[in-house]
Amino acid sequence: MQQELLKYQRQRENMVRDQIAVRGITDPNVLAAMGKVPRHLFVGEALMDQAYGDFPLPIGKEQTISQPYIVAEMTQALQLKKEDRVLEIGTGSGYQTAVLAEIAYRVYTVERIRLLLDKARKIFDTFHYHNIVTKYSDGTFGWADESPFDGIIVTAGAPQVPEILLNQLAPGGRMVIPVGKNYSQELLMLYKNDKGVHQTALGGCRFVKLVGEHGWKEE
Ligand code: SAH
Repeated sequence: MQQELLKYQRQRENMVRDQIAVRGITDPNVLAAMGKVPRHLFVGEALMDQAYGDFPLPIGKEQTISQPYIVAEMTQALQLKKEDRVLEIGTGSGYQTAVLAEIAYRVYTVERIRLLLDKARKIFDTFHYHNIVTKYSDGTFGWADESPFDGIIVTAGAPQVPEILLNQLAPGGRMVIPVGKNYSQELLMLYKNDKGVHQTALGGCRFVKLVGEHGWKEE
């Protein structure tokens, strides 16, 4: 047991050094969070030994846990401070949620597949992530009651930036979202201030579809 823990801890340290720091992620909060969150517990037992590899993995229901570097890149782009409130669309495995919860004050996460949300919720409870609030819903509507947010992260590919989410961003807030075609998108960082919204492209990526009213229509 102890040996297992040490093994995964070593794999985690290697992941942070060889996949994340080496590719230019410098935010110390992001590096610390990813060095801490036990990623192997967010995948099924059969995939635990691959959890710290440089790739996404299946988590059931045709969804995936993002590659570690993508999680780091998106988290860093949010420029989180410890008092920030963050909205995440697409809980999936809950791994990205836990990384956010290590850094921010509170994380509101929305998932449209009940089985995945229930699994993630169990892990959050086990590890006493009291600052994670979950909702089973179509996240393309955001979470109006809890808005505005300092950060919004969408972890599924959208056909365009949903206006309704931008409206739930606080002045000075940041939003990270993959936008583009079915299975190939551009990762966008949007920054909102009193003058408007500024957009920066961070590079190509490949996410599963954001399915919902303000995303892709269900097939
Ligand atoms: N951050 C997650 C990524 C999971 S994949 C992780 O690293 O594990 C993307 C997730 O977005 C899937 O679980 C999918 O069901 C969910 N999703 C897609 N469209 C959604 C929507 N409209 N509302 C909420 N969740 C959605």
